[in-house]
Amino acid sequence: MTKTDGKNLRAYQADLLPVYAPQLLAKAREAAGRAYAPYSHFYVGAALLLAGGEIMTGCNVENASYGATVCAERVAIFAAVAAGLLGPDMPPAALAVTAQPCALCLQVLAEFAPPDFPIILPAEAEFGEAADDAYQVWRLSDMLPKVFHL
Ligand SMILES: [Zn+2]
Repeated sequence: MTKTDGKNLRAYQADLLPVYAPQLLAKAREAAGRAYAPYSHFYVGAALLLAGGEIMTGCNVENASYGATVCAERVAIFAAVAAGLLGPDMPPAALAVTAQPCALCLQVLAEFAPPDFPIILPAEAEFGEAADDAYQVWRLSDMLPKVFHL
């Protein structure tokens, strides 16, 4: 994965989306293989491309209490914050996830990502069977048009 810097992040996102989207989706699929989902058997992986070009992955981690379960997207986001790679002044570049993100994860993402932030999903998430590297791109503002703010 090519390193980026904050200044060129927007250009990087637009120009290289066809290059990095399949790679990021492949990382998300790898992470889904590490999901701990003995209750739902719904295995989800996420890969967050950060401003510096790093990729933080996450998988869903379920719990017997159900309520303590954390989605793949939030695992990746929280790990990136804990690693010092994501924050208010270091927005992420893109997110790939193997399933439609829930509204809770979108709200957490909106804490750090701009409205035009690209979210990459497998093509089959919406259209059924598709090639492994086929993907669709949504903007954060399409999925969560009204962000909660204090
Ligand atoms: Zn979620």
